[in-house]
Amino acid sequence: MMPKMDSFISLSVPSLKGNELKYLADCIETNWVSSVGPYVDRFEREVAHRLGVPHAVACVNGTAALHVSLIAAGVQAEDEVIVPTVTFIAPVNAVRYVGACPVFMDCDDHLNMDAAKLVDFVEKECHFKDGRLLNRKTGRRVSAVIVVHVFGHPANMELIVQLTEKYGLKLIEDATESIGSYYKSLKGKKCFAGSIGDFGCLSFNGNKLITTGGGGMVLTNDEASARRVRHLTTQAKEDPLYFRHDEIGFNYRLTNLQAAVGVAQLEQLEKFIETKRKNFTTYRESLCGVTDLRWIEEPEGTYSNYWHYALVVDKEGDRDRLLIHLREKRIEARPLWALIHRQRPYQKFQAYRIEKALRYESAVLNIPCSVSLKEEEIQRVTEVIRSDWRVF
Ligand SMILES: *Cc1c(COP(=O)(O)O)cnc(C)c1O
Repeated sequence: MMPKMDSFISLSVPSLKGNELKYLADCIETNWVSSVGPYVDRFEREVAHRLGVPHAVACVNGTAALHVSLIAAGVQAEDEVIVPTVTFIAPVNAVRYVGACPVFMDCDDHLNMDAAKLVDFVEKECHFKDGRLLNRKTGRRVSAVIVVHVFGHPANMELIVQLTEKYGLKLIEDATESIGSYYKSLKGKKCFAGSIGDFGCLSFNGNKLITTGGGGMVLTNDEASARRVRHLTTQAKEDPLYFRHDEIGFNYRLTNLQAAVGVAQLEQLEKFIETKRKNFTTYRESLCGVTDLRWIEEPEGTYSNYWHYALVVDKEGDRDRLLIHLREKRIEARPLWALIHRQRPYQKFQAYRIEKALRYESAVLNIPCSVSLKEEEIQRVTEVIRSDWRVF
């Protein structure tokens, strides 16, 4: 007899058990399926309301949201944009889409951009003249910073906002992983990730906390910026009758079908975050006392959506052994992204004192985190980790 095989536990799968089908049926019955429609407006309105921003513009995916945000922020070709080296590659690619050059920053112990090093870079390596920040080494103008709230944990915005305001830099938040995460008190009030910078970008890709299959959104507090973003995502069409266009735009709009799924997903956001946090606690308790293992946790003063659970395996080589063991036991796990500054398209750009990121690159492991994860599955994952640990 064949031994019974354990079922496969995925890293992250979507959960579509709310009103998704009902709203989709409504789109089809009413014939509103394409890039305008009541669900698009409703999705934008409800996300904006949920995250406390006045304006939200839906678009085709998170990468497109980053792209149009950079254009609307006025980032020019040959400008420099400060980016993290620990990130999914999309925000850095978006910098290149506008012809600008990335400058890579190190991470802190939450895997977010090291704000203290960012301050050092600006104050020691750049000079500020006539309202422009110039990088001494390259002679280029530094015009923006993109901050990623990695795995849902809010970055050190207090310091970063101070700095970008002081030097007139545009601030773009890549909040694609951090919908619903917030600062308990920033400048005296509760603030959601993505609502703080000049632009905040969301993603509704299938692996994100809420999904529309594929999708994104730009958040902003500035009405003119919202109008510009909307214009850019709709082919920069000035005149809907004669089709006059005043600049080069993009077909970046979200469809009503996708937005319908988004509205249904948003209704469940609160519950999803509670589940993510509860499951994290279960994992943490189950692995309590295992030496040489620690977690990336939410920074003090913040509330994270715990999109991904990130374990740090400090001993050289153990992370990769654990990764293989988990895979053998049919549990999907994933290492941290390869650092962006070392990848082929980006090796020629400046990287500023990257130290911690090098260590975390070989030490971080993501383990299954789906909202639908069952208690027994969490126990299975932690048992595999515990049992394999004794072997090392
Ligand atoms: C998912 C993700 C994106 C891109 O979003 P898409 O919707 O897949 O284009 C951008 N940045 C980060 C950090 C992400 O994790």
